[in-house]
Order: sequence, then structure tokens, then C-alpha cells
Amino acid sequence: MSLQDKSKILKTIYRRLYQAFGAQNWWPGETPFEVIIGAILTQNTSWINVEKAIGNLKKENLLSPRALKDIPLEKLADKIRHSGYFNQKAKKLKAFIDFLFSNYCGNLEKMFSKEMHLLRPQLLEIKGIGNETADSILLYAADKPIFVIDAYTQRILFRQQLISEKADYEEIQQLFMQNLPLDSELFNEFHALFVRLGKEICKKRKPECRRCPLKKVTSYQSPVNNEEKICL
Ligand code: SF4
Repeated sequence: MSLQDKSKILKTIYRRLYQAFGAQNWWPGETPFEVIIGAILTQNTSWINVEKAIGNLKKENLLSPRALKDIPLEKLADKIRHSGYFNQKAKKLKAFIDFLFSNYCGNLEKMFSKEMHLLRPQLLEIKGIGNETADSILLYAADKPIFVIDAYTQRILFRQQLISEKADYEEIQQLFMQNLPLDSELFNEFHALFVRLGKEICKKRKPECRRCPLKKVTSYQSPVNNEEKICL
């Protein structure tokens, strides 16, 4: 498939999803700091649990870099209990806060002013922050033009035959970065639309292709299993 074809298909996918679902207004969070905390807490849990944990932090006035720096680790773990894996996640939050104070005096604006290609590797060095979390922070909190790849995106692209089953994070990300304008607003909306489609229609088991806005976007016929054809 040529680069031109890929670009055309991605734009068609975006257009169809946007027409079907409209603006998703992501990321849910009142401030960039809240977005970062949400991006860390949402690992391996549903958003509803994250909301409860963030609600607890807000209630106790703990949603600021200084407050999270000062609170003891065990106490923090208790406050975010709803998010699951709370001991590990408390350590991850503390690791991010340590990084923020050591490198940017606890100032998010300072951190966001760093160029994306320099900030991304720094974030990835923080214990517990992987590609998806780092890119969620860059895109949704810092408004930098980077595409976030998650399991929904990967599944839909594979079923649309735009990537192989073995494609890694960077490869999938490059598909967007090389074939679409580098536009944080577009990347923000596009990723949120993939999540919506993956949750509601292109489910892991039994995708509901008949009501999918992406049916017939690609001309491939890809079997999900022996009985079913998808993306027709
Ligand atoms: S047509 Fe089916 S398999 Fe293809 S993206 Fe839509 S729901 Fe998923």
C-alpha cells in the first residue's frame, strides 16, 4: 500500500468516525495536572475507578505537585485505593513528582516548554511510565502532536489490515505521524474516537461489523476466526 493510500484511508477512517460519534472532548480532566494523574492511574483499570480515586484526591486538596510531594507514600496509596494496584500506582505518582521537582522545579509549564523529542525520552525514564502513558501526557496534558496507541487502536488497525499482528508501538505510531498532519487537535480527537469504536462496536470478541461506521473502508477481507469476516 502506498503512502498516499495509507493517508487517504486514515483520513477516511477519521471522517467516518467523527461523523458517526462527533467530538469526544477528551481528555476528561479539569487541569493538565489532573490529566497526568489520570493517565498514570488509568493503567490496567477502568476510567470509573480512576474518577473515584481522583475524586478522593480532590476532596483532600491533594491534586497539586506540592501536595503529592508532601504526602507520605502509604497515605497516598490509601487515597487512590479505588484505582487498583494502588501501592504500585502510588510509587508511580511519586516517581513522576520526583522527576517534576528534580528537573522542572515542580513546574508543569516549564516541563511543557521542553521540545517533544526531548521530553518524551525523559518521561520514559520515569519508573512505571511506558509509551502509552508518556504519549497521553504529551498529547492530552502538554498539547504536543503525538499519536497515542492503545489496545483499541491496535485492534481496529489490525482488523482494517493497516498493520500486521506483530506491529510494535513505534511502528503503529509512525503510521499516523507519517501519514497525517502533525496536529495535536486531530490526534486528540482521532485517538478518542478509536477508543469509542473499540469499546462499543469493534469489541475484542464479536465485533459488530454490521453497524460499524468503518465497514468497507478497506477492501480487504480479514477473517477474525473461521466463521466470521470483518471490515467487509
Ligand atoms: S468493520 Fe468490524 S472489524 Fe472492521 S473496524 Fe468495524 S467492527 Fe471492527
